[in-house]
Amino acid sequence: MQNNIEIRNPATGEIDAVIPVITVDELNAAAALLKQGQGSWSKVPLQQRLDCITKFGQLILANKQELAEILTRETGKPFTQAMNEIVGAQNRIEHLQKNANRWLSEELIVNEGATHEKIVYEPLGVIANISAWNFPYNVGFNVFLYALAAGNAVLYKPSEFATGTGIQFEKYLYQAGIPEDVFKCVVGDAQVGQQLLELPLDGYFFTGSYKTGVHIASAVAHKLVPVQLELGGKDPLYIADDIVDIKKAAISAAEGAFYNNGQSCCAVERIYVSDKIYDQFVEAFIEEVASYKIGDPMRPDVFIGPLTRAAQLTVLDAQVKDALQKGAILRLGGHKLPNAGYYYAPTVLEHCSHEMELMKEETFGPLIGIQKVSSDDEAVHLMQDTAYGLTAAVFSSNRDRALTILEKMDTGTVYWNCCDRVSPNVPWSGRKNSGLGSTLSAQGIRAFVQPKAYHLRP
Ligand code: NAD
Repeated sequence: MQNNIEIRNPATGEIDAVIPVITVDELNAAAALLKQGQGSWSKVPLQQRLDCITKFGQLILANKQELAEILTRETGKPFTQAMNEIVGAQNRIEHLQKNANRWLSEELIVNEGATHEKIVYEPLGVIANISAWNFPYNVGFNVFLYALAAGNAVLYKPSEFATGTGIQFEKYLYQAGIPEDVFKCVVGDAQVGQQLLELPLDGYFFTGSYKTGVHIASAVAHKLVPVQLELGGKDPLYIADDIVDIKKAAISAAEGAFYNNGQSCCAVERIYVSDKIYDQFVEAFIEEVASYKIGDPMRPDVFIGPLTRAAQLTVLDAQVKDALQKGAILRLGGHKLPNAGYYYAPTVLEHCSHEMELMKEETFGPLIGIQKVSSDDEAVHLMQDTAYGLTAAVFSSNRDRALTILEKMDTGTVYWNCCDRVSPNVPWSGRKNSGLGSTLSAQGIRAFVQPKAYHLRP
């Protein structure tokens, strides 16, 4: 059993911090404590719970400089993007403030006649939130803030690659008035995650890879408690021949593919371009990607930093090699950078096909494949040729044309003339291998409660 987590700075590969892992006894004690605390927390009036969450948001904002530095040091996320995430995630808190009351309050359905009927939304109890490292604020807030608002207690396991950030969440939640017997950050890697699966908890909310998601769902299936999975994607973008501004489309597509070094669940992972504008689009795309500033992620002008995990460098190399063997043309990058740390050159491959892993398996890095198509039907066929179902995007000047294509997508989210975007107003959900259940929106609020039906004869 590992006693410490070594946090490595991906920009240097050197150890930045050593943090003790929670022991089995400590974890059991924390679960028992939260079981007790949850009952009292659920009786705290909703507005008071929401006020704690708002205060937490204010503390996060007041300390954003230090928090962004922690996030950049442990994940390699460029500092400007770390700041964007910290500030942007506040929209979850605003969403809760505006909407939690409506979706968590009891509903009087029938208030006349012999039998009155109402629904009361009760919290699930103590839930596990097993989280990812790529957007720890966004994906964390989607779960633990919504769970706390609904009156649950939360055992939060940050990714072992975002441990420092998880510890900060705990510190500021306590400062904001969330009781210590209601939230606990449990530090550890997969082993600690596994121990969470063995505890008698009331729900499992996971963000991470398909492989781990399936393992978690299988391991806890016998408990018959809610399981929610936010998993990976292989998100397609189709550039139709009627786009007016090719350069603008190329800039937007490149940002969708390379933001956070391509390490977004909803990053654009493959691009299909109409043969009528293929060459112009590809040239504009290459020009944009070649302009990205690569380097020390602490520098505010850097757009491409190191990858978070050293092991992913090998995955990218293998996808490039496979694509080149099968006829792709390398236009940019295709190799690790000589810098210390885990840097991979932003990479663009064109003339790709679905024979290549790059167009089928999640890449999760600064690498994109482009394929030429001759019709909307061909684009639809290829976009749908995937085991994943997170998002799909179309760039076109014709709304009806775009909507006709998007209606055919078996994905939780579709985009017209935009991509790589999440909003708290609408559900965030994956289909097929991209997951189960929804966060955000009304669905994401109700995900953390269970309905109780009252049949009342006054
Ligand atoms: P991962 O599956 O390796 O790890 C996720 C979490 O699961 C970590 O906290 C890890 O410690 C824990 N874990 C690993 N093995 C476990 C086990 N046996 N039992 C219990 N817990 C275990 O994923 P990752 O590398 O952290 O995240 C990257 C993946 O997450 C990508 O596939 C990405 O697309 C996906 N993701 C999806 C969304 C979404 O909203 N759909 C958002 C962010 C990331």
